[in-house]
Amino acid sequence: MDLNYILRAKKFKAKKSLGQNFLIDTETIDFISNFATNNDEILEIGPGLGFVTEKLIKNSKNVVALEIDDDAIKVLNNNLSQHKNFHLIKQDILKTNINELPFNDEKIKIIANIPYYITSPILVHLLGEIDEITNKNRTKIKEMILMVQLEVAKRIVANENSNNKEYGSLSILSQMYADVEIIKIVPKSCFQPSPKVDSALVKFTIRNEPKTEITKLLKKTIKAIFSTRRKNIKNALQIAGFKNVKESLCKVGIEKTKRGEELSLFEIQKLSQALEEFN
Ligand code: SAM
Repeated sequence: MDLNYILRAKKFKAKKSLGQNFLIDTETIDFISNFATNNDEILEIGPGLGFVTEKLIKNSKNVVALEIDDDAIKVLNNNLSQHKNFHLIKQDILKTNINELPFNDEKIKIIANIPYYITSPILVHLLGEIDEITNKNRTKIKEMILMVQLEVAKRIVANENSNNKEYGSLSILSQMYADVEIIKIVPKSCFQPSPKVDSALVKFTIRNEPKTEITKLLKKTIKAIFSTRRKNIKNALQIAGFKNVKESLCKVGIEKTKRGEELSLFEIQKLSQALEEFN
């Protein structure tokens, strides 16, 4: 831990309601900011007091930072406004079209210790809905390094072989549009104030094409099989109103007694394709 960061963070009255947990661990701050190189344009979501931001500014071509807290914005303006490659914008990430930000490059990197109270909305906003092949935000991004709660990180990278509570629609959405990897576990002691749980950094390498073909019924199929987890796949699909479930399962060779969390992304895609013939 770096005393300088601890003191700067303690001087500021952190707002729990905005998910303000500031990173105070030098090694982690360096680890994250080293994903920015001098060829990159970076979007930082929630720069806070700017501990990561100051290093991103040094490492990269251009940093655009979105922050909604006026008190944090004052600190950032005092400390960082002299840098020509830094653009601080008071704006909610969830209301932002990344294409309208001051970037020159076709594709950018996002590096962020995100506010945890809106983790899922942020991921959906950046990646798009599962059936949105051409989401405008995603097509502007080449890579994202995001700090999330460890439990969420495990859900993002989970597959049909993982602990079945972890694998679900967040895993499917993330992996449909990115290669995902947990690159560092970050203990809660690395933050001030310290959150209740440990965190992890997840690297998303954004794909140009979705991992499988997107069928019309994919989103509905995913919702059906993961929202009634204790039911077998046949019952889950029937409850959701799908017709000819038995025939579709048989066609793609999936046992009707299997549960959704035992199916790979490819199996789910094939199943939704088969269901399309009858629904
Ligand atoms: N980047 C800093 C760090 O690592 O120490 C702060 C990270 S803190 C977890 C999250 C930051 O996101 C806070 O500064 C908070 O004010 C900001 N924030 C919260 N909601 C936001 C939103 N909707 N859009 C943009 N920033 C937001």
